[in-house]
Amino acid sequence: MRRRFFRAATLAILAGLVVAFLFAVPLMGQLYTDETEKRLDTALALVCGYSLPEGEQPYERLAEDAAARLAGEELRITLIAEDGTVLGDSETDPAGMANHAGRPEVRQALETGEGRDIRRSDTTGEREMYRAVTQTMPDGSRVVFRASLSLEGEGRMQATLWGCGLIGMFMGLVAALFAAHYSAGRLMEPLQELTGAARRIAAGETGVRVAAAPDEMGELSGAFNRMTERLAAAHAELEYSSERMAGILQGMDDGVIALDADGRITLLTRRARELLGAVPSEASRLEECGGNYLAVQGLLERAMESGEPVRETLALAGPPERILQVYAARVKETREGGALAVFSDVTRIRKLEIMRSEFVANVTHELKTPLTSIRGYIELLKSGPRDEETARSFYEIIEIEAERLQKLTDDLLQLSEIESGARGGENESVGVEEALGQICESLRPEAEGRGIAFRLQVEPGLRVGASPRRFHQLMKNLMENAVKYNRDNGSVAVTAQKERGVAVIRVADTGIGIPAEHLGRIFERFYRVDKGRSREQGGTGLGLSIVKHIVSLYGGDIQVESEAGTGSAFTVRLPL
Ligand code: ADP
Repeated sequence: MRRRFFRAATLAILAGLVVAFLFAVPLMGQLYTDETEKRLDTALALVCGYSLPEGEQPYERLAEDAAARLAGEELRITLIAEDGTVLGDSETDPAGMANHAGRPEVRQALETGEGRDIRRSDTTGEREMYRAVTQTMPDGSRVVFRASLSLEGEGRMQATLWGCGLIGMFMGLVAALFAAHYSAGRLMEPLQELTGAARRIAAGETGVRVAAAPDEMGELSGAFNRMTERLAAAHAELEYSSERMAGILQGMDDGVIALDADGRITLLTRRARELLGAVPSEASRLEECGGNYLAVQGLLERAMESGEPVRETLALAGPPERILQVYAARVKETREGGALAVFSDVTRIRKLEIMRSEFVANVTHELKTPLTSIRGYIELLKSGPRDEETARSFYEIIEIEAERLQKLTDDLLQLSEIESGARGGENESVGVEEALGQICESLRPEAEGRGIAFRLQVEPGLRVGASPRRFHQLMKNLMENAVKYNRDNGSVAVTAQKERGVAVIRVADTGIGIPAEHLGRIFERFYRVDKGRSREQGGTGLGLSIVKHIVSLYGGDIQVESEAGTGSAFTVRLPL
């Protein structure tokens, strides 16, 4: 741009100089001619005015005299008679001069009173300008006064003019080139600044401004600044909305994967990585991510091919094992298309569903066993007369089974109450010593029957933040088990004290113990190590499950240590 401007300015200057020079030189020539003519006219007027009154002077002297008077003017004065005879000449002897009657200026002068001509002189051999006027002498004759001046000076002047002109033109051109170079630089400055700013914007820079320039460039730079401001505002708005969108997507509990029409990953949220596994940093397609991503890719491809959304459940081998509900669909809303997969972790829900159906099956089974037994004995009683002893034993069995049913329904009710978060009273506390004492008393008849000794050691005044009813349910289940699964003549040691701000209650027995492989499951509902023994003892399989729920209801925890054949110890920690 700068070079083009510089070239155009140089050409314009050069053309201007040439045109000016071409006009100036002939004009100067014309001026020179005009000036010469004026000088000749003035000389003639002077010569005529001075010679007339004298009269007597011979003609030869007249011309010489006239020339002498005009000394310094380089003029030649010639006096010519009407018949063309040269009477006198300021430079040459008239005797040797040819008749001048045919000279154009002389002829014109005799005809009209004045004449002129420019030609090469026969006498001097130079290019001369002639001016002639007629004058009537005192004797009545007419003579012609002619003045002439060499025009050789004009040629010299023109040559000088051309020489000076060319030098001047060259110097003017050099000066103009410097000026054009400087002006081009000054003029281009704002444009260059604008170009630089546009390049920075194209490179992604925001908030680019250019300095305000005067005149039209000022308007351009103002418009440019307004444009960059609007661009920056639009950019900020776009960034904000995409950040907001990314924030929403990343914050979702569901994982999201989006692909473009060529299968390249355009979005893969943090949650998606958590659920499906880590992604190699250079991966741009799902097949490069491997593992679980291949299954998702399969669903996305199906959705892309069919155009219909695909809903499927994916079971991931893990670890950790996971069940994902996946929704895959083709994206039709955007210009470039692509596909989208949204998946949620339904592992917990599925596990709960399985637990619920298992629970229903277990409850049904637990209810069915005593009911079948009751119905069986009633049938036996109805089938025929029995002796009194047999009948009583049947009634006793029916009573035991009915009690078992009662215990089962009581435990189920308690469990559902506790599971629904019912604490059985807010902000309550219970005295540990008193509660444990009562439980001991209620269990003592059975314990004593089997020779089992109770040892109770409780820190005086110890209280825990739980409802007395729930605390009673919790401890009774543990202490009952310690008696139920004890050996005859064994012992149960119950200790309770404050340790690091919590109440630590420990129930240790000398019973059959729990084999290590069962330890992890004894808190599950209906889980029993020895089904027959539990049933024999009137157990429901819900006791430890109730214990675990109560402990967690009050923010505590429970641990078990046990050795098969030696005994078990349950340690409960509860807030004070
Ligand atoms: P149950 O009504 O059968 O006693 P629990 O939930 O109270 O049900 O206990 C689950 C199982 O844990 C019991 O069936 C028993 O096998 C085992 N268990 C619980 N407490 C003890 C203990 N103190 N000693 C040995 N085994 C026990």
